Amino acid sequence: MQTPPPNAFLTVDTAALAANWRVFAAASGPADCGAAIKANGYGLGAREVADTLTAAGCRDLFVAQWQEVAALGLLPQGVRLAVLHGADAADIPFALSINAVPVLVTPAQVAAWKSTGRPCDVMIDTGLNRLGLAPADALSGLLDNLEIHTLHSHLACSEDRAHQLNETQRRTFAEICSKIPARRLALANSAGIGLGAPYHLGLTRPGIGLYGGGQSPGIMPLQPVAALSARILQIRDIAPGACVGYGATFTAARPTRLATTALGYADGYPRALSNHGRAHVAGIPCPLVGRVSMDLTIFDVTDAPQVAEGSFLDIDFDLAETAAASGHSEYELLTGLGARYARIYR
Ligand SMILES: *Cc1c(COP(=O)(O)O)cnc(C)c1O
Repeated sequence: MQTPPPNAFLTVDTAALAANWRVFAAASGPADCGAAIKANGYGLGAREVADTLTAAGCRDLFVAQWQEVAALGLLPQGVRLAVLHGADAADIPFALSINAVPVLVTPAQVAAWKSTGRPCDVMIDTGLNRLGLAPADALSGLLDNLEIHTLHSHLACSEDRAHQLNETQRRTFAEICSKIPARRLALANSAGIGLGAPYHLGLTRPGIGLYGGGQSPGIMPLQPVAALSARILQIRDIAPGACVGYGATFTAARPTRLATTALGYADGYPRALSNHGRAHVAGIPCPLVGRVSMDLTIFDVTDAPQVAEGSFLDIDFDLAETAAASGHSEYELLTGLGARYARIYR
């Protein structure tokens, strides 16, 4: 059966993705530079992201859950895949059947994993108070007789260069690491890499910056990776005074040409962009008018008379601007992109 043509495209610029990884790899100095590809590669497609980054030289990938490992399939020789939520006893049979290691996060996980005799990673919580062993547990002897490959911690405030918790966490981690044997140490996410060499240790774990987002001070220049376009389902001309969309939140002030596109909040295009978003046609800005609905969004194309039903509008999706306009974080914007896009890699 033939598949119907798509209504919206999510275009992933794999050259930009690879270039962004090289920027972080260079900024990481002698440390290995990995990549967080959890949540389906931050919404862009974990398999394709993994292929692109491993071809660029990345040797350490991170997902959150074992389901994500299964979805990823085979990776090239020499690539190490680690699972940030660790492995509960019930995960161990699957974990042992596949080429990925857990980042153990609780004393119960450590106890269960010891029986496998296999190497693993361990996460120490040094102040985020989210997921990982408390320092006291890590130093209690719990980790004796465990073969730790990479010992991790994760920063709470790396986006705020001046925050004192950065240095507090770094020191706490250094103190713990001096007492626990591990082959490699890792602390920095994208923004953490920008905090400088003392944070790089043996491995860095950038995520958002690879996908063109996040403010990582001192890490420049990052290129946008994701672009959206949506099909115009209908064009309509309305008179001044006519209103648009649910709740009638927009009223035309001039004779106005509207383009209704096949894109909505079900595609992760934020409803908060109602009357704030924008599209472009051949460089001409087309403001979003009225409310974003589940499957439809309407743009004012009065200034772009060349558009026709069935053609596509380029939807502005600059991460920093869209985050500011919508109140969503750049992480939410990327990971919220829905399943209906045709994802194009080039
Ligand atoms: C998601 C994640 C990262 C990547 O963080 P970014 O802010 O996206 O760079 C790194 N380390 C851990 C433990 C994570 O959960």
